[in-house]
Amino acid sequence: RAKLMQRAGHLFFTRSMGVDIRERVRMMRALRTALDEKELFVVYQPQIDLVTRRPVGAEALLRWKTKDGTFIPPDRFIPIAEFSGLIIEIGEQVLRLACQELVRLQSLGFSEFTMSVNVSQVQFRHPRFLDMLREVLRETGVPAARIELEITESIAMEEPDVLIELLRQIKQTGVSIAIDDFGTGFSSLSYLQRLQADRLKIDRLFVTEITSSTRGSSIAEMVIQLGRNLGMSVVAEGVEDERQASILQALGCPLAQGYLFARPMTVDQLTSWLTDNGAR
Ligand code: C2E
Ligand code: MG
Ligand code: MG
Ligand code: MG
Repeated sequence: RAKLMQRAGHLFFTRSMGVDIRERVRMMRALRTALDEKELFVVYQPQIDLVTRRPVGAEALLRWKTKDGTFIPPDRFIPIAEFSGLIIEIGEQVLRLACQELVRLQSLGFSEFTMSVNVSQVQFRHPRFLDMLREVLRETGVPAARIELEITESIAMEEPDVLIELLRQIKQTGVSIAIDDFGTGFSSLSYLQRLQADRLKIDRLFVTEITSSTRGSSIAEMVIQLGRNLGMSVVAEGVEDERQASILQALGCPLAQGYLFARPMTVDQLTSWLTDNGAR
């Protein structure tokens, strides 16, 4: 156990701390095999322009389907991947696949379409992250301006100057930055401004509350306002019904994603869904 902790070094594993150590080791081994045997794949959830109601982009989301057909949710295996360091390899694969998929969509005429990719803080702190990003951009030939990296607000909390410099260099590649699950962390507003992110993603929690409590709706409203004032785009996450969508639209939220519009889908489903829904 001590050895494991040591190996984890400075990596973060707070989210997996509650999991039994033996279970964690078992999952780690299974994940290693999953990576080698291609049990991991990426699905894509469309992002919708709330005014035109057309898809303008998609978020890449990782899936793990084991040999016996069970799905293990990312919230369970990502912490293990982070703890073990496997996220470095997995995260690179997700980014490469998402870029390749966007190149393919572009060749089909979805030229304005964007792709968002989640990046773990462990990947972000890896010394080769920037090189890896540049390499994937070059190898796939994807237009960097159409790629967005999603980082969570909690990354934004540590070593402000190091992070701000890294984000600046990422933005120099042409790739843009979104703050995921915004509103669940506690970064200061002045710090948020220093990050120079391009987009805020309103956490699903606040979207759910929009129709059930006045406090919830005021948080979503505040984020939309904040985005407008700081010149950032805003995406509402987890929009499940039309009432939520119309309230968000009335509040001036430009973009949304959620089951109301589409569930995450495989590459094969994506092209026809986008065609049917006027993305081109
Ligand atoms: P996230 O990035 O905030 O992604 C949004 C989650 O909300 C996704 O869950 C998505 O399937 C789900 N979702 C979308 N619309 C709705 C809706 O209308 N209702 C509900 N109830 N849920 C909705 P998913 O795919 O299970 O991913 C969970 C989290 O795992 C993600 O949260 C992200 O933090 C992480 N994750 C997923 N893929 C990756 C990846 O490739 N790399 C990293 N580092 N993290 C990932
Ligand atoms: Mg995300
Ligand atoms: Mg989110
Ligand atoms: Mg999340």
